[in-house]
Amino acid sequence: MTADIVIRGAREHNLKNITLRLPRGRLTVVTGPSGSGKSSLVFDTLYAEGQRRYVESLSGHARRVLTKLKRPDVGVIEGLCPAIAVRERAPSRNPRSTVGTLTEINDYMRVLFATIGQVHCPICGEPLTAHSVAQVVHQASRLPGGTRFAVQAPIVRAGAAVPRELAADLRSKGFVRLRVDDALVDLEDLGTLPAGVSVDVVIDRLSVRDGIASRLAEAVELAYQLSGGVVELREREGKRHRFSEQYACFDGHASIPRVTPQLFSFNTPLGACADCDGLGLTRKFTAELAVTDPSLSLRRGAVTAWGKPSLAYYRSMLEKIGTAGVDLDEPFEKLDEKQRRTALDGGERFEGVLPGLERRAREYARRKLAEGGDEERVLEFLDEELGQFARMETCPKCDGSRLNRNARSGRIEGRAIDELSALGLGDLQGWLEGVQVSPQREAAVRPLLQSVRDRLAFLRRVGLGYLSLDRS
Ligand SMILES: [Zn+2]
Ligand SMILES: [Zn+2]
Repeated sequence: MTADIVIRGAREHNLKNITLRLPRGRLTVVTGPSGSGKSSLVFDTLYAEGQRRYVESLSGHARRVLTKLKRPDVGVIEGLCPAIAVRERAPSRNPRSTVGTLTEINDYMRVLFATIGQVHCPICGEPLTAHSVAQVVHQASRLPGGTRFAVQAPIVRAGAAVPRELAADLRSKGFVRLRVDDALVDLEDLGTLPAGVSVDVVIDRLSVRDGIASRLAEAVELAYQLSGGVVELREREGKRHRFSEQYACFDGHASIPRVTPQLFSFNTPLGACADCDGLGLTRKFTAELAVTDPSLSLRRGAVTAWGKPSLAYYRSMLEKIGTAGVDLDEPFEKLDEKQRRTALDGGERFEGVLPGLERRAREYARRKLAEGGDEERVLEFLDEELGQFARMETCPKCDGSRLNRNARSGRIEGRAIDELSALGLGDLQGWLEGVQVSPQREAAVRPLLQSVRDRLAFLRRVGLGYLSLDRS
Protein backbone atom coordinates (compact mmCIF):
# COMPACT_ATOMS: atom_id res chain seq x y z
CA MET A 1 0.00 0.00 0.00
CA THR A 2 1.12 3.53 -0.69
CA ALA A 3 1.97 5.84 2.17
CA ASP A 4 -0.68 8.30 1.08
CA ILE A 5 -4.29 8.14 0.07
CA VAL A 6 -4.56 9.47 -3.46
CA ILE A 7 -7.89 10.62 -4.85
CA ARG A 8 -8.02 11.31 -8.57
CA GLY A 9 -10.89 12.86 -10.49
CA ALA A 10 -13.42 13.33 -7.69
CA ARG A 11 -16.66 14.61 -9.20
CA GLU A 12 -19.27 13.79 -6.57
CA HIS A 13 -21.90 16.56 -6.26
CA ASN A 14 -20.20 19.89 -6.87
CA LEU A 15 -16.61 18.61 -6.84
CA LYS A 16 -14.87 19.75 -10.01
CA ASN A 17 -12.81 16.71 -10.97
CA ILE A 18 -10.29 17.28 -8.21
CA THR A 19 -7.19 15.28 -7.45
CA LEU A 20 -5.43 15.34 -4.09
CA ARG A 21 -3.14 13.39 -1.80
CA LEU A 22 -3.82 12.82 1.92
CA PRO A 23 -1.20 11.41 4.33
CA ARG A 24 -2.25 8.10 5.87
CA GLY A 25 -2.27 7.63 9.62
CA ARG A 26 -2.17 11.36 10.22
CA LEU A 27 -4.80 13.85 11.27
CA THR A 28 -5.98 15.84 8.28
CA VAL A 29 -8.36 18.75 8.60
CA VAL A 30 -10.50 19.73 5.63
CA THR A 31 -11.76 23.28 5.85
CA GLY A 32 -13.55 25.66 3.53
CA PRO A 33 -16.59 27.84 3.19
CA SER A 34 -20.03 26.33 3.41
CA GLY A 35 -20.99 24.65 0.14
CA SER A 36 -17.41 24.26 -1.06
CA GLY A 37 -17.67 20.47 -1.12
CA LYS A 38 -16.00 19.38 2.15
CA SER A 39 -18.70 16.81 2.91
CA SER A 40 -18.84 15.67 -0.71
CA LEU A 41 -15.15 14.92 -0.54
CA VAL A 42 -14.87 13.44 2.94
CA PHE A 43 -18.18 11.63 3.42
CA ASP A 44 -19.59 11.09 -0.04
CA THR A 45 -16.33 10.16 -1.75
CA LEU A 46 -13.64 9.01 0.68
CA TYR A 47 -15.83 7.36 3.29
CA ALA A 48 -18.35 6.03 0.77
CA GLU A 49 -15.68 4.27 -1.24
CA GLY A 50 -13.88 2.93 1.83
CA GLN A 51 -17.11 1.54 3.22
CA ARG A 52 -18.16 0.10 -0.13
CA ARG A 53 -14.89 -1.78 -0.60
CA TYR A 54 -14.99 -3.05 2.96
CA VAL A 55 -18.52 -4.40 2.59
CA GLU A 56 -17.61 -6.05 -0.72
CA SER A 57 -14.84 -7.96 1.02
CA LEU A 58 -17.32 -9.59 3.41
CA SER A 59 -19.37 -12.75 3.02
CA GLY A 60 -22.60 -12.71 1.05
CA HIS A 61 -24.66 -12.83 4.23
CA ALA A 62 -22.90 -9.88 5.82
CA ARG A 63 -23.23 -7.94 2.58
CA ARG A 64 -26.97 -8.36 2.66
CA VAL A 65 -27.18 -7.14 6.26
CA LEU A 66 -24.95 -4.10 5.93
CA THR A 67 -26.04 -1.07 3.97
CA LYS A 68 -23.89 -0.66 0.94
CA LEU A 69 -23.16 2.87 -0.15
CA LYS A 70 -23.30 3.65 -3.83
CA ARG A 71 -20.08 3.96 -5.77
CA PRO A 72 -18.99 7.59 -5.64
CA ASP A 73 -18.26 9.54 -8.79
CA VAL A 74 -14.48 9.41 -8.67
CA GLY A 75 -11.77 8.31 -11.08
CA VAL A 76 -9.70 6.26 -8.69
CA ILE A 77 -8.73 6.18 -5.02
CA GLU A 78 -5.46 4.56 -4.05
CA GLY A 79 -4.23 3.55 -0.62
CA LEU A 80 -7.67 3.46 0.92
CA CYS A 81 -8.47 1.29 3.95
CA PRO A 82 -11.82 0.44 5.62
CA ALA A 83 -13.38 3.68 6.78
CA ILE A 84 -15.40 4.78 9.74
CA ALA A 85 -17.25 8.10 9.72
CA VAL A 86 -18.38 9.95 12.80
CA ARG A 87 -20.68 12.63 11.65
CA GLU A 88 -21.65 15.77 13.46
CA ARG A 89 -25.39 15.98 13.66
CA ALA A 90 -27.04 19.35 14.13
CA PRO A 91 -29.01 19.09 17.37
CA SER A 92 -32.75 19.29 16.86
CA ARG A 93 -34.27 22.64 17.68
CA ASN A 94 -37.66 21.04 17.99
CA PRO A 95 -39.36 22.75 20.95
CA ARG A 96 -40.83 19.40 22.00
CA SER A 97 -37.48 17.68 22.30
CA THR A 98 -35.96 17.21 25.71
CA VAL A 99 -33.23 15.00 27.08
CA GLY A 100 -36.05 12.60 27.99
CA THR A 101 -37.60 12.41 24.53
CA LEU A 102 -34.31 12.28 22.62
CA THR A 103 -32.96 9.43 24.74
CA GLU A 104 -36.37 7.68 24.71
CA ILE A 105 -36.23 7.50 28.50
CA ASN A 106 -39.53 9.39 28.57
CA ASP A 107 -41.17 6.63 26.55
CA TYR A 108 -40.23 4.06 29.18
CA MET A 109 -41.17 6.35 32.04
CA ARG A 110 -44.61 6.89 30.51
CA VAL A 111 -45.26 3.18 30.25
CA LEU A 112 -43.97 2.78 33.80
CA PHE A 113 -46.42 5.39 35.09
CA ALA A 114 -49.31 3.89 33.15
CA THR A 115 -48.46 0.46 34.58
CA ILE A 116 -47.72 1.08 38.25
CA GLY A 117 -48.54 4.77 38.79
CA GLN A 118 -51.51 5.77 40.92
CA VAL A 119 -53.56 8.72 39.67
CA HIS A 120 -55.29 11.11 42.05
CA CYS A 121 -58.06 13.66 42.00
CA PRO A 122 -56.23 16.88 41.09
CA ILE A 123 -58.55 18.83 43.43
CA CYS A 124 -58.81 16.80 46.63
CA GLY A 125 -55.97 14.33 46.17
CA GLU A 126 -58.09 11.16 46.57
CA PRO A 127 -56.53 8.17 44.78
CA LEU A 128 -58.62 7.35 41.71
CA THR A 129 -59.15 3.89 40.33
CA ALA A 130 -61.22 2.33 37.58
CA HIS A 131 -63.41 -0.72 38.05
CA SER A 132 -65.30 -2.54 35.36
CA VAL A 133 -68.72 -3.91 36.27
CA ALA A 134 -67.19 -7.38 36.54
CA GLN A 135 -64.54 -6.11 38.95
CA VAL A 136 -67.17 -4.55 41.21
CA VAL A 137 -69.10 -7.83 41.23
CA HIS A 138 -65.91 -9.68 42.08
CA GLN A 139 -65.13 -7.32 44.96
CA ALA A 140 -68.66 -7.72 46.33
CA SER A 141 -68.37 -11.51 46.20
CA ARG A 142 -65.44 -11.27 48.61
CA LEU A 143 -67.55 -9.68 51.36
CA PRO A 144 -68.56 -12.11 54.13
CA GLY A 145 -71.45 -14.38 53.11
CA GLY A 146 -74.84 -13.00 54.09
CA THR A 147 -73.68 -9.35 54.19
CA ARG A 148 -76.65 -7.21 53.19
CA PHE A 149 -75.96 -4.18 51.06
CA ALA A 150 -77.62 -1.67 48.75
CA VAL A 151 -76.38 -0.75 45.29
CA GLN A 152 -76.54 3.03 45.08
CA ALA A 153 -75.93 5.62 42.39
CA PRO A 154 -74.91 9.04 43.75
CA ILE A 155 -76.83 11.58 41.70
CA VAL A 156 -76.78 14.80 43.74
CA ARG A 157 -73.60 15.80 45.55
CA ALA A 158 -73.84 17.41 48.96
CA GLY A 159 -74.38 21.12 48.56
CA ALA A 160 -75.51 20.97 44.94
CA ALA A 161 -79.03 21.94 43.90
CA VAL A 162 -81.56 19.13 43.42
CA PRO A 163 -82.76 19.34 39.80
CA ARG A 164 -86.48 20.14 39.57
CA GLU A 165 -87.29 17.33 37.19
CA LEU A 166 -85.41 14.75 39.22
CA ALA A 167 -88.38 13.11 40.97
CA ALA A 168 -90.40 12.79 37.77
CA ASP A 169 -87.38 11.54 35.90
CA LEU A 170 -86.61 8.84 38.48
CA ARG A 171 -90.25 7.81 38.77
CA SER A 172 -90.45 7.33 35.02
CA LYS A 173 -87.43 5.03 35.27
CA GLY A 174 -89.13 2.99 37.98
CA PHE A 175 -87.08 3.93 41.06
CA VAL A 176 -88.83 4.37 44.38
CA ARG A 177 -86.13 4.51 47.06
CA LEU A 178 -83.49 7.13 47.72
CA ARG A 179 -80.84 7.61 50.30
CA VAL A 180 -80.70 11.23 51.37
CA ASP A 181 -77.59 11.82 53.43
CA ASP A 182 -77.88 8.87 55.81
CA ALA A 183 -81.61 8.25 55.74
CA LEU A 184 -83.65 6.11 53.37
CA VAL A 185 -86.42 8.20 51.83
CA ASP A 186 -89.31 7.49 49.49
CA LEU A 187 -89.15 9.18 46.13
CA GLU A 188 -92.46 10.90 46.95
CA ASP A 189 -90.74 12.90 49.71
CA LEU A 190 -88.05 14.28 47.43
CA GLY A 191 -89.81 17.63 47.03
CA THR A 192 -89.61 18.45 50.74
CA LEU A 193 -85.87 17.99 51.17
CA PRO A 194 -83.76 20.69 52.81
CA ALA A 195 -81.09 22.28 50.62
CA GLY A 196 -77.55 20.96 50.58
CA VAL A 197 -78.24 17.24 51.03
CA SER A 198 -76.66 14.49 48.98
CA VAL A 199 -78.95 12.09 47.15
CA ASP A 200 -78.29 8.52 46.05
CA VAL A 201 -80.71 6.38 44.10
CA VAL A 202 -81.10 2.96 45.70
CA ILE A 203 -81.05 0.65 42.73
CA ASP A 204 -81.21 -2.73 44.39
CA ARG A 205 -80.76 -4.41 47.75
CA LEU A 206 -78.97 -7.73 47.95
CA SER A 207 -77.16 -10.02 50.32
CA VAL A 208 -73.91 -11.78 49.52
CA ARG A 209 -74.54 -15.38 48.44
CA ASP A 210 -74.08 -17.57 45.37
CA GLY A 211 -76.11 -16.70 42.31
CA ILE A 212 -76.41 -12.92 42.74
CA ALA A 213 -73.74 -12.10 40.14
CA SER A 214 -75.96 -11.29 37.17
CA ARG A 215 -78.49 -9.30 39.20
CA LEU A 216 -75.66 -7.39 40.85
CA ALA A 217 -73.94 -6.74 37.53
CA GLU A 218 -77.16 -5.31 36.14
CA ALA A 219 -77.57 -3.01 39.15
CA VAL A 220 -73.96 -1.80 38.97
CA GLU A 221 -74.28 -1.11 35.27
CA LEU A 222 -77.44 0.90 35.88
CA ALA A 223 -75.71 2.84 38.65
CA TYR A 224 -72.83 3.71 36.34
CA GLN A 225 -75.33 4.97 33.77
CA LEU A 226 -77.33 7.05 36.23
CA SER A 227 -74.43 8.61 38.08
CA GLY A 228 -72.04 9.10 35.22
CA GLY A 229 -69.66 6.34 36.25
CA VAL A 230 -69.68 5.88 40.03
CA VAL A 231 -71.40 3.32 42.26
CA GLU A 232 -71.55 2.71 45.98
CA LEU A 233 -72.20 -0.61 47.68
CA ARG A 234 -73.46 0.31 51.11
CA GLU A 235 -73.64 -2.34 53.78
CA ARG A 236 -76.62 -2.25 56.07
CA GLU A 237 -74.26 -1.60 58.95
CA GLY A 238 -73.10 1.53 57.18
CA LYS A 239 -69.80 0.44 55.66
CA ARG A 240 -69.33 1.95 52.19
CA HIS A 241 -67.53 0.52 49.17
CA ARG A 242 -67.14 3.00 46.34
CA PHE A 243 -66.15 2.24 42.80
CA SER A 244 -65.62 4.35 39.74
CA GLU A 245 -65.83 3.17 36.17
CA GLN A 246 -63.28 5.67 34.91
CA TYR A 247 -60.97 7.21 37.48
CA ALA A 248 -63.67 9.60 38.73
CA CYS A 249 -63.53 11.43 42.04
CA PHE A 250 -66.48 10.64 44.31
CA ASP A 251 -66.87 14.26 45.21
CA GLY A 252 -67.38 15.05 41.53
CA HIS A 253 -64.26 17.19 41.20
CA ALA A 254 -62.70 15.53 38.23
CA SER A 255 -62.28 12.35 36.29
CA ILE A 256 -59.43 11.11 34.17
CA PRO A 257 -60.73 9.53 30.99
CA ARG A 258 -57.91 7.07 30.38
CA VAL A 259 -54.73 6.13 32.16
CA THR A 260 -52.45 5.12 29.31
CA PRO A 261 -48.85 6.04 28.44
CA GLN A 262 -50.22 8.96 26.40
CA LEU A 263 -51.58 10.56 29.56
CA PHE A 264 -48.01 11.07 30.73
CA SER A 265 -46.77 12.67 27.51
CA PHE A 266 -46.74 16.40 26.90
CA ASN A 267 -46.75 15.63 23.20
CA THR A 268 -50.31 14.27 23.21
CA PRO A 269 -53.55 16.19 23.86
CA LEU A 270 -54.35 13.75 26.68
CA GLY A 271 -51.32 14.76 28.73
CA ALA A 272 -50.37 18.22 27.48
CA CYS A 273 -51.07 21.35 29.47
CA ALA A 274 -53.91 23.05 27.59
CA ASP A 275 -52.60 26.56 28.18
CA CYS A 276 -49.19 26.06 26.59
CA ASP A 277 -50.03 23.02 24.43
CA GLY A 278 -47.25 21.11 26.12
CA LEU A 279 -44.47 23.57 25.40
CA GLY A 280 -44.01 24.73 29.00
CA LEU A 281 -43.80 28.33 27.84
CA THR A 282 -46.46 30.87 27.05
CA ARG A 283 -46.22 34.04 25.07
CA LYS A 284 -46.94 36.87 27.45
CA PHE A 285 -47.86 40.13 25.80
CA THR A 286 -47.15 43.17 27.92
CA ALA A 287 -48.38 46.74 27.69
CA GLU A 288 -44.84 48.10 27.39
CA LEU A 289 -44.13 45.89 24.38
CA ALA A 290 -47.53 45.92 22.65
CA VAL A 291 -48.08 49.67 22.94
CA THR A 292 -44.80 50.84 21.48
CA ASP A 293 -45.64 54.53 21.24
CA PRO A 294 -47.86 55.62 24.14
CA SER A 295 -47.69 59.23 22.98
CA LEU A 296 -50.07 58.24 20.18
CA SER A 297 -53.79 57.83 20.71
CA LEU A 298 -55.38 54.43 20.18
CA ARG A 299 -56.91 55.69 16.95
CA ARG A 300 -53.60 56.99 15.64
CA GLY A 301 -51.85 53.67 16.10
CA ALA A 302 -50.67 53.27 19.70
CA VAL A 303 -51.10 49.49 19.51
CA THR A 304 -48.35 48.55 17.09
CA ALA A 305 -49.10 44.86 17.60
CA TRP A 306 -52.45 45.27 15.82
CA GLY A 307 -50.71 46.35 12.64
CA LYS A 308 -51.49 49.57 10.77
CA PRO A 309 -54.43 51.71 12.03
CA SER A 310 -55.93 51.61 8.54
CA LEU A 311 -56.35 47.82 8.59
CA ALA A 312 -59.79 46.28 9.12
CA TYR A 313 -58.60 44.27 12.13
CA TYR A 314 -57.26 47.37 13.84
CA ARG A 315 -60.49 49.25 13.19
CA SER A 316 -62.70 46.45 14.49
CA MET A 317 -60.70 46.18 17.71
CA LEU A 318 -60.81 49.95 18.08
CA GLU A 319 -64.57 50.02 17.76
CA LYS A 320 -65.03 47.44 20.53
CA ILE A 321 -62.75 49.29 22.89
CA GLY A 322 -64.52 52.56 22.06
CA THR A 323 -67.90 51.14 23.08
CA ALA A 324 -66.38 50.22 26.46
CA GLY A 325 -65.94 53.92 27.15
CA VAL A 326 -62.22 54.24 26.43
CA ASP A 327 -61.20 57.57 24.88
CA LEU A 328 -59.74 56.69 21.50
CA ASP A 329 -58.32 60.12 20.67
CA GLU A 330 -56.42 60.90 23.85
CA PRO A 331 -52.74 59.88 23.75
CA PHE A 332 -52.52 56.44 25.35
CA GLU A 333 -50.20 57.65 28.10
CA LYS A 334 -52.68 60.38 29.06
CA LEU A 335 -55.56 57.96 29.64
CA ASP A 336 -56.38 57.39 33.27
CA GLU A 337 -55.34 54.08 34.83
CA LYS A 338 -58.86 52.62 34.62
CA GLN A 339 -59.23 53.34 30.89
CA ARG A 340 -55.76 52.03 30.18
CA ARG A 341 -56.47 48.77 32.03
CA THR A 342 -59.83 48.43 30.26
CA ALA A 343 -58.15 48.82 26.89
CA LEU A 344 -55.37 46.40 27.79
CA ASP A 345 -57.20 43.69 29.76
CA GLY A 346 -60.69 43.94 28.26
CA GLY A 347 -64.02 43.70 30.00
CA GLU A 348 -67.09 41.54 30.18
CA ARG A 349 -68.23 42.08 26.61
CA PHE A 350 -64.98 42.57 24.75
CA GLU A 351 -61.48 41.31 24.60
CA GLY A 352 -58.69 43.69 25.56
CA VAL A 353 -55.47 44.28 23.67
CA LEU A 354 -53.36 41.74 25.57
CA PRO A 355 -55.72 38.73 25.80
CA GLY A 356 -56.66 39.38 22.17
CA LEU A 357 -53.06 39.12 21.05
CA GLU A 358 -52.53 35.98 23.09
CA ARG A 359 -55.62 34.38 21.61
CA ARG A 360 -54.65 35.31 18.06
CA ALA A 361 -51.18 33.83 18.47
CA ARG A 362 -52.60 30.62 19.94
CA GLU A 363 -55.29 30.27 17.30
CA TYR A 364 -52.80 30.88 14.54
CA ALA A 365 -50.51 28.17 15.87
CA ARG A 366 -53.35 25.68 16.32
CA ARG A 367 -54.75 26.33 12.87
CA LYS A 368 -51.38 25.93 11.20
CA LEU A 369 -50.65 22.75 13.12
CA ALA A 370 -54.09 21.33 12.31
CA GLU A 371 -53.32 22.01 8.64
CA GLY A 372 -50.23 19.87 9.09
CA GLY A 373 -47.74 22.72 9.45
CA ASP A 374 -44.33 22.09 10.92
CA GLU A 375 -44.36 23.24 14.53
CA GLU A 376 -40.84 24.63 14.48
CA ARG A 377 -41.69 26.81 11.48
CA VAL A 378 -44.99 27.97 12.95
CA LEU A 379 -43.31 29.02 16.18
CA GLU A 380 -40.49 30.70 14.30
CA PHE A 381 -43.03 32.65 12.29
CA LEU A 382 -44.83 33.76 15.45
CA ASP A 383 -41.51 34.81 16.96
CA GLU A 384 -40.76 36.93 13.92
CA GLU A 385 -44.22 38.48 13.76
CA LEU A 386 -45.04 38.90 17.42
CA GLY A 387 -41.79 38.32 19.28
CA GLN A 388 -41.20 42.04 19.69
CA PHE A 389 -44.51 42.49 21.54
CA ALA A 390 -44.22 39.58 23.91
CA ARG A 391 -41.95 37.71 26.26
CA MET A 392 -41.81 33.96 26.54
CA GLU A 393 -42.60 33.03 30.12
CA THR A 394 -42.76 29.81 32.06
CA CYS A 395 -46.37 28.66 31.69
CA PRO A 396 -48.09 29.56 34.97
CA LYS A 397 -50.68 26.80 34.58
CA CYS A 398 -48.23 23.89 34.53
CA ASP A 399 -45.20 25.65 36.05
CA GLY A 400 -43.30 24.81 32.92
CA SER A 401 -43.77 21.07 33.39
CA ARG A 402 -45.71 20.94 30.07
CA LEU A 403 -48.13 18.41 31.59
CA ASN A 404 -51.74 18.94 32.63
CA ARG A 405 -52.91 18.30 36.17
CA ASN A 406 -54.28 14.85 35.34
CA ALA A 407 -50.87 13.75 34.13
CA ARG A 408 -49.17 15.27 37.15
CA SER A 409 -51.59 13.50 39.50
CA GLY A 410 -50.01 10.15 38.64
CA ARG A 411 -47.53 9.05 41.27
CA ILE A 412 -45.15 6.21 41.88
CA GLU A 413 -44.03 6.02 45.49
CA GLY A 414 -45.16 9.57 45.98
CA ARG A 415 -43.33 11.09 43.02
CA ALA A 416 -45.00 12.54 39.93
CA ILE A 417 -43.45 12.19 36.49
CA ASP A 418 -42.65 15.90 36.21
CA GLU A 419 -40.83 15.84 39.55
CA LEU A 420 -38.74 12.90 38.40
CA SER A 421 -38.01 14.63 35.10
CA ALA A 422 -36.56 17.57 36.98
CA LEU A 423 -34.11 15.42 38.95
CA GLY A 424 -30.48 15.11 37.95
CA LEU A 425 -29.95 11.82 36.13
CA GLY A 426 -27.92 10.43 39.03
CA ASP A 427 -30.72 11.13 41.50
CA LEU A 428 -33.24 9.64 39.10
CA GLN A 429 -31.19 6.48 38.89
CA GLY A 430 -31.03 6.33 42.67
CA TRP A 431 -34.80 6.67 42.87
CA LEU A 432 -35.35 3.93 40.30
CA GLU A 433 -33.21 1.50 42.31
CA GLY A 434 -35.62 1.89 45.20
CA VAL A 435 -38.88 1.35 43.28
CA GLN A 436 -40.79 -1.56 44.80
CA VAL A 437 -42.81 -3.67 42.39
CA SER A 438 -45.47 -6.19 43.34
CA PRO A 439 -44.84 -9.77 42.17
CA GLN A 440 -47.81 -9.59 39.74
CA ARG A 441 -46.31 -6.57 37.98
CA GLU A 442 -42.72 -7.74 38.16
CA ALA A 443 -42.64 -9.32 34.69
CA ALA A 444 -44.11 -6.24 32.99
CA VAL A 445 -42.07 -3.70 34.88
CA ARG A 446 -38.60 -5.20 35.17
CA PRO A 447 -37.68 -4.72 31.47
CA LEU A 448 -38.90 -1.11 31.63
CA LEU A 449 -36.79 -0.32 34.65
CA GLN A 450 -33.81 -2.03 33.06
CA SER A 451 -34.15 -0.02 29.84
CA VAL A 452 -34.24 3.23 31.77
CA ARG A 453 -31.30 2.20 33.94
CA ASP A 454 -29.21 1.25 30.89
CA ARG A 455 -29.81 4.60 29.25
CA LEU A 456 -29.16 6.53 32.43
CA ALA A 457 -25.96 4.62 33.03
CA PHE A 458 -24.82 5.43 29.51
CA LEU A 459 -25.57 9.13 29.86
CA ARG A 460 -23.71 9.27 33.14
CA ARG A 461 -20.76 7.38 31.70
CA VAL A 462 -20.37 9.99 28.97
CA GLY A 463 -20.47 12.74 31.56
CA LEU A 464 -24.06 13.95 31.18
CA GLY A 465 -25.24 12.98 34.66
CA TYR A 466 -25.77 16.62 35.56
CA LEU A 467 -28.66 16.88 33.07
CA SER A 468 -32.31 16.23 33.86
CA LEU A 469 -34.90 14.65 31.56
CA ASP A 470 -36.84 17.88 31.18
CA ARG A 471 -33.89 19.81 29.78
CA SER A 472 -34.68 21.15 26.31
ZN1 LIG B 1 -61.78 15.10 44.38
ZN1 LIG C 1 -48.52 24.85 30.53
